[in-house]
Order: sequence, then C-alpha cells, then structure tokens
Amino acid sequence: MTEQEKLEELERQGFDKCSADEDEDTIRVRCSQCEALVINGRATHEMGCPNKPLPSVMDYPDEDDYESCSKCGGELDSQGNCANYCEEEARVQ
Ligand SMILES: [Zn+2]
Ligand SMILES: [Zn+2]
Repeated sequence: MTEQEKLEELERQGFDKCSADEDEDTIRVRCSQCEALVINGRATHEMGCPNKPLPSVMDYPDEDDYESCSKCGGELDSQGNCANYCEEEARVQ
C-alpha cells in the first residue's frame, strides 16, 4: 500500500486531517472531531466521535481477531485456533 492509498483509506475511516510525514516515513493520524489515537497500529477515534464511520464500513475488532491470533499475532488455522498453539496452552493450564 502506498502512502497515498493509506491516506485515502484513513480518510474513508473519518480521519480527515491526516498528513504524511515524509521525513519519518510515517502518517500522522488526525481527526478534526476528536483526538485520534493509533492503538496497536490501528487508527482509532475517541468514543462518540461524529467522524467515526458506521460499522458497515469499519473493521470489526472481532474480525481482526479471527484472522490473526489476538495474543501472539500469529496465523490461525481453519478452526480459528492459533497456529502457534499459544491459546491452546493457556486453556490447558
Ligand atoms: Zn474522530
Ligand atoms: Zn497465538
């Protein structure tokens, strides 16, 4: 994904004041309606921000958990279990 595409994606999510910082090769995530934060690499609006997109265009956190292990970030198998078995170990103990 190019910087431009990232900016467009962030704009779609309501972060309308983003700017690319070319010196640091990062994107500053800004929202005109709240103090936007980046949590675990995910741009997040404050609670109740009017720029927050409707759920239909947002990524659901649950969906993300399903794609990668919430504990180690590893891949999941077809049953949704961590390929690194980190969840499994937690359950056994
Ligand atoms: Zn916001
Ligand atoms: Zn895991």
